[in-house]
Amino acid sequence: MNQLKHYTLEEVSEGVFAAIAKNSGGACSNSGIIDLGDQTIIFDTSFTIQAAQELRQIAEQVTKSPITYVINSHWHGDHIRGNMVFKDCSIIASQKTKMKIDETHPSLLKEHKESIHQYKDHVTNLRKNRELEEDKEEIESLTDSILQMEEIISTLPEVEYISPSHTFNEGMTIKGSQLTAQLISVGQGHTEDDSILFIPERGVLFTGDILVKNTHPYMLDGNVFEWLESLKKISEYPCSHWIPGHGKVGKIGDLTTLVNYMTEMIQLSKQNTDVPLIDIPEPYSSWKGRQTFYSNIEVIRTQLK
Ligand SMILES: [Zn+2]
Repeated sequence: MNQLKHYTLEEVSEGVFAAIAKNSGGACSNSGIIDLGDQTIIFDTSFTIQAAQELRQIAEQVTKSPITYVINSHWHGDHIRGNMVFKDCSIIASQKTKMKIDETHPSLLKEHKESIHQYKDHVTNLRKNRELEEDKEEIESLTDSILQMEEIISTLPEVEYISPSHTFNEGMTIKGSQLTAQLISVGQGHTEDDSILFIPERGVLFTGDILVKNTHPYMLDGNVFEWLESLKKISEYPCSHWIPGHGKVGKIGDLTTLVNYMTEMIQLSKQNTDVPLIDIPEPYSSWKGRQTFYSNIEVIRTQLK
C-alpha cells in the first residue's frame, strides 16, 4: 500500500481494520473497515473529502468485496463529512442521529464555509506561535495542527451535505458470508444518541466517541452521567479490542481510565474554584485538547444544577 497521508492502518483481527487518524491529516477521527466476506462496511467517514477518499481506497485495496453499508456513529461533523465520498452506498445512522444531522448540518456547514477566512487567520497565528516556541514537542504539535487545519481548509468549499439514506431504531445486524456486524444504539452519552459496531466473531468493538484515548472527551453535546452508563454498557461486550473515536486502538483498561476521568471531573466541578484556576490532574495533563478540559468543567456544573 502507498504511504498513507491521513491514517495509520491496523488490522486488529482478521478482516477487521482500524483506520487511526493521523494528527497531521484531514481525517480528524478514526474509522473502521470491516470485511464481512461478501461485503465490506465502513464505520464513520471522517472530516474531509480527501481523508474519506483515502479511507475508501484503503478499503478497496485491503478487502475484495464491495462496500455496502457506511455507518455514522453520531452527528458530529468529524464523523460524517466524508459521506459524500460514499454517496453510492447505503449510509446508515440511528433515527435520532439522522434527525440531528438533518437539523444541524446544513446551517453548520454553511457557517463553517463562511468562516474560512477565520480558519486561515488561525493558521497564521499557529505559524507565529511556532516561530516563538522552543520546546521540541510543542513545535511538533503545532506543526501537526497547522497541517491539519490546512487539510480542512483546502476542501471545505467543496464539502456537500449528505444525510444518511437509511435509519435503524435500536439496532440492526448485518450478516456477511464470513462475519456478522451488530450495529447498536447506546442512547444518550457523548451526544443525544451514539451508536457502536460490534464484531462478535472477532471480539472487536467500534465505539465512536463513547471512548476516546489520551484526548479530553468533548462533553458539550452530551450528558456526563448518561455517558458513564454508556461506558459501563460497552465494557460488558466480550472484546479484546475497543476502537475509540479518537486516539489509538484501546483495551478494557482505557474504558476504566475514562470512567476515572469523568468521576474526577464531577468531583472537580463540585468545588467552588474558578474554572481557569483548576489544574488539570496529572494523568490527564498531557492529553490532547486542554481547552476541552475547561469547557467540560463548565458543562458538568450546569448538569449538576
Ligand atoms: Zn463526537
